[in-house]
Amino acid sequence: MFRAVFLDRDGVLNVPEIRDGIPYPPKDAAGFRLYPEAKEGCELLQRAGFRLVIVTNQPDVGRGTQSMAMIDEMHALLRATLPIDHIEVCPAADDEAPDAYRRKPAPGMVLDAARTLKIDVARSYLVGDRWRDIDCGHAAGCTTIFIERGYREKLRRPPHHYAANLLDAAQFILRLEKTALVSGG
Ligand SMILES: [Mg+2]
Repeated sequence: MFRAVFLDRDGVLNVPEIRDGIPYPPKDAAGFRLYPEAKEGCELLQRAGFRLVIVTNQPDVGRGTQSMAMIDEMHALLRATLPIDHIEVCPAADDEAPDAYRRKPAPGMVLDAARTLKIDVARSYLVGDRWRDIDCGHAAGCTTIFIERGYREKLRRPPHHYAANLLDAAQFILRLEKTALVSGG
């Protein structure tokens, strides 16, 4: 069994568009910008032996205002820079859609990826910037890390840990791992 760090996309790897304090995904590949520290964060985790799996809600696809082709184009850019092993996208427009078992906060994307990649979810992490990520991580049984971006939105359940950005989260995970080794955990 492998271990993974499940990564939300917008607000974790790439810069979202902020409107009225709420983050939105970039509309096209031209507007797709990675955070400068995301690469080093991913590389640290990959070197430590973690699979890197993106789990991203993209409800604009289900609403018909975004295309899967454009999502794929953004993910090609992302994969060109970051060592990502696997990407799960949920296009469900809302929590009532037939595939909403995959829409965060539901844990479907994490569990589907875990089955595909033989990942031990209970020994894995989930990093996100919104309540849906944190609740998804709890539902799946991961250790959750919240990146606080100061949005006009409250968490519903507290995360296990907080981080300033993905590099900070990665360094924190590596420190936890070292502590576990020292204490035999
Ligand atoms: Mg996000």
